[in-house]
Amino acid sequence: MELTNNARIILEKRYLKKENGVPVETPEEMFMRVARAVAGAEKIFNPSLTDVEIEEYTRRFYNLMTGWDFLPNSPTLMNAGRELGQLSACFVLPVEDSMEAIFTAVKDAALIHKSGGGTGFSFSRLRPKNSPVRSTGGIASGPVSFMKVFNAATEAIKQGGTRRGANMGILRVDHPDILEFIRCKENNNELTNFNISVGLTKEFMEAVARDEEYELKFAGKVYGKLKARQVFEEIVDHAWANGEPGIIFLDRLNEGNPTPELGEIEATNPCGEQPLLPYEACNLGSVNLANMVSGGGVDWDKLAETVYWSVRFLDNVIEINEFPLEKIKTMVMGNRKIGLGVMGWADMLFRLRIPYDTEEAVELGRRVMAFIQKEARQASRKLAAERGSFPNIDKSIYRGQKLRNATCTTIAPTGTISMIAGTSSGIEPVFALAYTKNVLDGESLIEVDPVFRAYIEENFAPEKANLIFQQIAAGKSVREIEEIPPDIRRVFTTALEIAPEWHIRMQAAFQEGTDNAVSKTVNFPSSATKEDVRRVYELAYKLGCKGVTVYRSGSREQEVLISGTQN
Ligand code: UDP
Repeated sequence: MELTNNARIILEKRYLKKENGVPVETPEEMFMRVARAVAGAEKIFNPSLTDVEIEEYTRRFYNLMTGWDFLPNSPTLMNAGRELGQLSACFVLPVEDSMEAIFTAVKDAALIHKSGGGTGFSFSRLRPKNSPVRSTGGIASGPVSFMKVFNAATEAIKQGGTRRGANMGILRVDHPDILEFIRCKENNNELTNFNISVGLTKEFMEAVARDEEYELKFAGKVYGKLKARQVFEEIVDHAWANGEPGIIFLDRLNEGNPTPELGEIEATNPCGEQPLLPYEACNLGSVNLANMVSGGGVDWDKLAETVYWSVRFLDNVIEINEFPLEKIKTMVMGNRKIGLGVMGWADMLFRLRIPYDTEEAVELGRRVMAFIQKEARQASRKLAAERGSFPNIDKSIYRGQKLRNATCTTIAPTGTISMIAGTSSGIEPVFALAYTKNVLDGESLIEVDPVFRAYIEENFAPEKANLIFQQIAAGKSVREIEEIPPDIRRVFTTALEIAPEWHIRMQAAFQEGTDNAVSKTVNFPSSATKEDVRRVYELAYKLGCKGVTVYRSGSREQEVLISGTQN
């Protein structure tokens, strides 16, 4: 198994089983632990399988992972085959409008964070600030003040040894406290364990287009009106200032809701790619596209085969998952949502020598994801024939059909698993060809993109190659390195050199073939204007995206990604 140094450090720090702070398994043993646990589900479905047959499944799942063709989300790597056994990355919890319900949600979130999962909440059901509280005769403090309670609880837990808690907070744009919500992360030190997104409605977007007012409402009562454009500008101004809030399009999330009879989708997981019903969870996994290239083209046969085994893997994960709450178990076992996505898209394009910001790349992205979607559904149908459809299928849009999973595809950020696999993350362009990355509580790592490294090492003498890496790591653009032919310089383009419109067009192309949503950050250079941000938000809406996240360079003090060497 080939492992980069960075991958080894990450695995040792957070993933390998430890005793007294010392790893007691090797990375190979970790993958074998996971493969064995996942293959164990086969026996649950088919008790007549022999040990030799189970061993074959184990070997297959092991090879799928250690060949870097596919990885499940981090909690599966950390917890499968271990006592904790909680394997999902994403949860959504309801927050109802009572003290008891609010603090139940705080407690449930704490249990989820402890096991490495992230939680999303809609705070739209909480009564607005200054509303009367009947039992005490006092006044309500409103959604934002309760978010601070969730934030403090998350801070205190820090996920005891696995990973830091992450939360998504969502408020509908027509909630009376919307302006306070939009401003609640103005200060970079506030609500640090939350990403926030405004839930936009079709009605609101139409009011923006017509430059009209819209109503602020709660529990059927109208609290006032605001000019839609003014609120939209306010969102844009804040996103320009420090990347928050993001936006999600609620009506679109619900158009994609496979089980509307079971409830409305009000929230997503922390990074926005997984819309879920209250008490639902989802386990994600990602195919490494960089490995799906052969002979200068996409290896469609390998991709189809990889998707099949990945879907089977993820459906098995549901079966062996230890759920933190009974209610979550019921929801998850009823819908059996899985989220298969991709990583290594930028590296695939590098290998195919197609620049990210071209029509050709967007078209290929659309084709690749449509293919994965088709193959994943087919795999899910096959599993349904073997194991039965998801129990709620008759309450779903798939009534009368056979399907094992209510959703099959999601594009996760793959923030850590892409580093373990040594590939570019999700569908993001590479941020820099060589860069330092601040990860895991302040440590930083230096990385050179593997495809770029291979190209340079093949075409330049070792001293020259090293010089090029040093220059790039010091912040020089590949465009300025004249020894590299112009068409190749064009191929190795990076996030900030790509116009924001191309980021959104790529996101929209992948969304077309995705049941759930797509994690994508539109990176802007620090010189970008508010108008640039507004245009991207509008384009995302027009092109059918389910949400948008933007980030302008330099707008937060502690950045996750820094171009060039900083230490
Ligand atoms: N997540 C989390 N805490 C983290 C990172 C991620 O709870 O520190 C959750 C969150 O729901 C996110 C999902 O995991 O949307 C997937 O994130 P990513 O793909 O980056 O995770 P990986 O599997 O690569 O660690």
